Amino acid sequence: MTQHAARPAIHRRNRPSILAAPLIALALWSWGIAAAQAAESGKDAMAAGLPRILVLATGGTIAGQADARATGAYKSGQITGEQLMQSVPGLDKLARLNAEQISSIGSQDMNDKVWFALARRIQEAFDKNEADAVVITHGTDTLEETAFFLDNVVRGDKPVVIVGSMRPATAVSADGPGNLYEAVQVAADPRSRGRGVLAVLNDKIQGARSVTKTNTTSIETFSSANDGPVGYVDSAGGIRFMAQAQGLKRATYQLPAGEQLPRVAIVYSHANMDAVPIEDAISHGAKGIVLAGVGDGNTSKPALDALEAAAKKGVIVVRSTRVRSGFVTRNVEVDDDKNGFVVSEDLNPQKARVLTQLLIAGGVTAPAELQKAFTATW
Ligand code: ASP
Repeated sequence: MTQHAARPAIHRRNRPSILAAPLIALALWSWGIAAAQAAESGKDAMAAGLPRILVLATGGTIAGQADARATGAYKSGQITGEQLMQSVPGLDKLARLNAEQISSIGSQDMNDKVWFALARRIQEAFDKNEADAVVITHGTDTLEETAFFLDNVVRGDKPVVIVGSMRPATAVSADGPGNLYEAVQVAADPRSRGRGVLAVLNDKIQGARSVTKTNTTSIETFSSANDGPVGYVDSAGGIRFMAQAQGLKRATYQLPAGEQLPRVAIVYSHANMDAVPIEDAISHGAKGIVLAGVGDGNTSKPALDALEAAAKKGVIVVRSTRVRSGFVTRNVEVDDDKNGFVVSEDLNPQKARVLTQLLIAGGVTAPAELQKAFTATW
């Protein structure tokens, strides 16, 4: 009895009154809020230390979706940059991301208008200190040309990384999410500064000047034949750059007024080559011709004569090559000094075309000055 009598006494002392119950609930609720707020502000504090990355989406297979035509068929540029980012887990731990849609096109339709919009937006974001780095999502077909164009016009040393994929987002083994993750990893890394525009695909980091697409369908398609990748990236090992950043030595070019670069044609050389493609290019108003020559930038006698005549009329002639590696060298089998030609050095025809356009737009037309710009890297 005594024991029994004692128990209720103890219970009474500790039992909350009817009024106390809601007070405790209120206290627990507000502790909950405070804890959640603390966690949230902890997250904010963590996030505040992360770099700000502006993602500019242009379309491409990375934003592609299967269509009904056949197995493997798909349409480029169907998914927005925002949706792409949402589909990759863990991006928010790498950077504070903000996506903008610049275009929704397959990069086979890439054009001056989109290039100018990209260049202007990147420069604005850097000049106004809105972003610490930029990631561009892009189709792979002309990715190297956009990379090279931007490399030549964007000022400053903040990282600009371009990324694409060979398989659409809806493919069984889509390569886009991994590539996008690695692109953000590279853009967020301070060691990526001062390296110009970088292409990140399939665990490789490659420079805008050298990178080129080499396989029509394989995910192992981008390569830099003359100098190899700038570095490697993977989610386990992180980023390994093969050399310290040198800072940017090359010139940058002003964007010309308007939204169009001067017309420069690429003429592809082959056996039995005649002068017709060169004459056609000139009759359609080409201010420059880039020869995708055989071997060391060579072409047939009739084509060479037509190029010589074009150069005499003030058309810029740049000899490049259809061969995938090596350099085009002055005055070997072709007398460049006599003909007033320029050689592209290591630039493939599609990049030599971009540089020729920028130079003509900037009023550089003397062969010696043009040659200096092509050789500026060495
Ligand atoms: N045609 C596509 C594009 O360049 C190919 C790709 O993205 O892989 O947009």
